[in-house]
Amino acid sequence: MGPLSEFKKYILEILTGSKSLVIGMGITFKRLFMPIVTVQYPRRKLTMTPNFRGHIEAIYFDDTKSHHCVACGLCVRTCPSHVIKVQGEKEKAGERKYGQKYYIDFTKCSLCGLCVDVCPEKTLTFSHEYELAYLSRWDGVIDIMRRLEAVTK
Ligand code: SF4
Ligand code: SF4
Repeated sequence: MGPLSEFKKYILEILTGSKSLVIGMGITFKRLFMPIVTVQYPRRKLTMTPNFRGHIEAIYFDDTKSHHCVACGLCVRTCPSHVIKVQGEKEKAGERKYGQKYYIDFTKCSLCGLCVDVCPEKTLTFSHEYELAYLSRWDGVIDIMRRLEAVTK
């Protein structure tokens, strides 16, 4: 390969590189005048759509000033990931149980929604919470009854 063809190749590379640069800058310039669709997370957070499936939470009912879980265990038996543990107590003999503790391991929950659908008391739902990152696997095991108390205090 002679010095002339080397020079041609060099010029061609410069032209190709310049063309890519102009195309890239054109896209950047066009974006400057388009509506902003990103937010400065975590300083700003998006409001999720009504159908968004965040992690499972207990529903607060005004009549009992709490959830309606009766610790029947149906959700525990239905969960395909086996990540639910429920403990309930009866205040008096002959009364229905009342759910006291309700742990879900969100590091393994697939958010399939079967627990929400199967609950006879309709006391579970999807939250709009999307921050599901934890520093330890144990941080992902959450008592949703305690969480309900904390958010309704
Ligand atoms: S959403 Fe699915 S995987 Fe998660 S706890 Fe409920 S049943 Fe189990
Ligand atoms: S959340 Fe519903 S299905 Fe699960 S134990 Fe409580 S009442 Fe039963």
